[in-house]
Amino acid sequence: MNSNLDIQKLSATKKYILLEDNVTIQLPVWIKNRYSSLRFINDTSTLQIQCYKCKVWLDIALLKDGSWVDIHKDTEIKLHDSGFSSYCSSCCLQKEDKKNKPSLPPKSLELTKNTLPISDMEKDTIFLTAENIKYVKLRLALSDMRKADFYNYLIEQEKEKNPISKYL
Ligand SMILES: [Zn+2]
Repeated sequence: MNSNLDIQKLSATKKYILLEDNVTIQLPVWIKNRYSSLRFINDTSTLQIQCYKCKVWLDIALLKDGSWVDIHKDTEIKLHDSGFSSYCSSCCLQKEDKKNKPSLPPKSLELTKNTLPISDMEKDTIFLTAENIKYVKLRLALSDMRKADFYNYLIEQEKEKNPISKYL
């Protein structure tokens, strides 16, 4: 067996594999993209696709008696009308997680007008830059908020991002 054929890389200009005796087999028609992320393993007669992110190789087609069988699993990589995803399914999930986080702030961080009564708070005196004082004044006027609620809200946000446990 020609060892050059053990693993065959594919590309946008080479959409076929070579078998022994120079037989060429075109890629399955349902593969429409990501040609340069494909390879064919001769030993197992499988066509694989590589995840763009984690670089794992996944089986997507099996060459059986000269024709292709679709063996991709949606749990590993999604096949859409437009072709295969760039990322494997687990990398897609991680991406979704990251994307969803900022749009779903924890309930505690919602800035509402129903906050603690002043009697439950402690007084603190701080110095701010003139620019920040101006921003706070405008922001409070425009959102109809109390100054105490605004500063507490900012600190709650910071606590969420950087809990004290991080520094202990
Ligand atoms: Zn991946």
